[in-house]
Amino acid sequence: MASPLPPQRTGSRRRMPLVLSFATVSLLMTVGLGTVLGLQIDRAVRQRSVTDLKRTTASSVALAVRMMIVETPQFKPGSVQEELVQVRLINTAAEALVGSGGAVAVEATLPNGFVVGGANGPAVGTMIPVDPLLRSALSGKTSTLTIHRDGHAPDALGERLLRTQGGVLVLQRGVRMTPGGPIAGAVRVYALLAPSNREAASEIRTDLLVLAVGLLIFWLVLFRLVSGAARRIREQSQANEYLALHDSLTGLPNRVLLRQRTDEAIEDAALTGSTVTLILMDLDLFKDVNDILGYEYGDRLLQLIGPRLQAHLRDTDTVARLGGDEFAVLIPDLPDGESPLLVAGRLSAAMAQSFTVDGVLLDVSGAIGVSAAPADAESFNGLLRNADVAMHEAKQHGREITEYAPELNTGSATRLTMLGELRRGIDTPGELVLHYQPKADLPSGAIKSVEALVRWQHPERGLLPPGEFIPLAESTGLIRPLTMAVMRVALAQIAAWAQEGLFLRVAVNVSAKCLSDNTFPDQVLDLLRQAGVPVGALEIEITESAIMSDPERALGVLEALHAAGISLAIDDFGTGYSSMAYLKRLPINDIKIDRAFVTNMDQDASDAAIVRTSIQLAHSLGMSVVAEGVETGPVLAQLTELGCDHAQGYYLSKPLPAGELAEWVRRYDGTGRLLLLTS
Ligand code: C2E
Ligand code: CA
Ligand code: CA
Repeated sequence: MASPLPPQRTGSRRRMPLVLSFATVSLLMTVGLGTVLGLQIDRAVRQRSVTDLKRTTASSVALAVRMMIVETPQFKPGSVQEELVQVRLINTAAEALVGSGGAVAVEATLPNGFVVGGANGPAVGTMIPVDPLLRSALSGKTSTLTIHRDGHAPDALGERLLRTQGGVLVLQRGVRMTPGGPIAGAVRVYALLAPSNREAASEIRTDLLVLAVGLLIFWLVLFRLVSGAARRIREQSQANEYLALHDSLTGLPNRVLLRQRTDEAIEDAALTGSTVTLILMDLDLFKDVNDILGYEYGDRLLQLIGPRLQAHLRDTDTVARLGGDEFAVLIPDLPDGESPLLVAGRLSAAMAQSFTVDGVLLDVSGAIGVSAAPADAESFNGLLRNADVAMHEAKQHGREITEYAPELNTGSATRLTMLGELRRGIDTPGELVLHYQPKADLPSGAIKSVEALVRWQHPERGLLPPGEFIPLAESTGLIRPLTMAVMRVALAQIAAWAQEGLFLRVAVNVSAKCLSDNTFPDQVLDLLRQAGVPVGALEIEITESAIMSDPERALGVLEALHAAGISLAIDDFGTGYSSMAYLKRLPINDIKIDRAFVTNMDQDASDAAIVRTSIQLAHSLGMSVVAEGVETGPVLAQLTELGCDHAQGYYLSKPLPAGELAEWVRRYDGTGRLLLLTS
């Protein structure tokens, strides 16, 4: 079956940039993070390299100075020897320092700035200014200065090194002749930053490379995770979208998708001037397949319908399932030489072919309603409503196909108004009126029971017979409140008659819909209690077709009613197709033979045969028999002769309002027809 999914495709296209934009944003963030970390690493490594240089320079200076102290012999303080030795030793220490700890130049001075030695520095015998660095060294501190390319050196040598070699570290330390003795001079050491800078740079390069690779892997993993999650979300949302637009059993488009496509088709048709056709189809015998063969067969059959219809349509047409056994076909534009009726005819012919499920041949005919835009309607709802009206028209008249025509609509309009009125009528006391028709025992003729038959006192149209509103109630769910309302009035009537000394049982007609409601028996028992009427005074009549439409389900409710002591009768017996098997199992007290077989039985041998057989059958199952539609004396006599248990019909009385019925019973009891009955 063609099930194109354009919405999903556009959906995935719409979502693609989401992953892309995530990739871009996360990449930018990763690069940003990398830059910050890189700068941080750069700063830290450079700082550490300067600190290292300071530390090694300082420690080599300290070592040299300490060695010198150890080697210094003791002289008389202030003696010439002492001064000479002092100068030489400072000088020696300074010379020893060159090359160690990265020192490139050393100058050794006396506290007054007189240069006494060194290497690569100012000449011996020259004076250098006593600058803060020297002063701080003379006070016993070791001072270092790091001068980078753009800084200012404290002296001429520093300045020269700075210009020729880049950054310079200057370290100055005082020199003591004896441990703890006075500071006799100072050494100033110059070390170049360049070598450690180079080392730092190479370390930084390695670190940055590791960082970059790490971040790249991090980003790739993140991207993979996110794009995987995005894909799963996308797939999930596609699945959800699919479910939202398709029927889960058949995979066909559902009402929502049908609406979308119909709306699009109507829009297109407005531009091109073409015709949009909506065909609605309801399977007639589907319920039987479900009931008789089971739901699996029903489901499998429903799955075959789509492909069967699609085979007679173009790919651009849509077959949708609207629910249950209702299907719709959308033809967005009719090809030349086609008409809605022609297409509908082809589909109907296709459906007329048997379906095979598990080797079982199934025939399901469908009623088809056809509506077209813009001729009949200009919206999806309009098209659907019209097709529905047409389909019901087809059903009602047993036709296969009906095309929508405005005249058909008037029926549904009055139906709608009437539905509203009936809903109100059920709730308005006095609008539902019961007439009662007596049932006579045979052969005695005694009246112990009456049947309640509802009429509707319509505010404008007068007293309506049940045929004018019961089918409407049946088809809309109003039948349940209606049945309960009738039951309430009937029970109140039983109580009222009992007050007058008239003890009559009343039979109430109950619809099939009530039998599928498990709470129905309890509702009835509640009403009985409220009315204060004994259970035995209520009889319930159910048509044969109502029971047989779903005997398994009806059985539970019937058994509950029977167990409670309520007498049950099968109405219109002979018109349905009772299965003997069920008849035997059902807790039924009476069967009421349909008047179609009774009224003319004295003139029609086959009617008489049916009545006779029915009586025998019922008796053999322990049930008693009521004959309906007894209109003449001879029929009554014949029934009595056949052993029929009860008779009901115009010959005795038409259904009468409660008051008249009571009158009738009183008169009847004495003389009149009773004599006729027994004659
Ligand atoms: P039903 O249950 O078979 O009721 C008997 C119908 O036959 C009544 O028609 C009655 O007036 C008519 N009838 C009785 N004796 C004779 C006769 O000798 N000759 C002829 N020709 N007809 C006779 P009514 O009152 O028009 O009711 C028609 C149907 O409406 C009932 O058929 C029943 O199926 C339904 N109905 C009536 N009241 C109710 C109700 O309260 N609830 C439900 N669910 N259905 C009801
Ligand atoms: Ca009845
Ligand atoms: Ca009947």
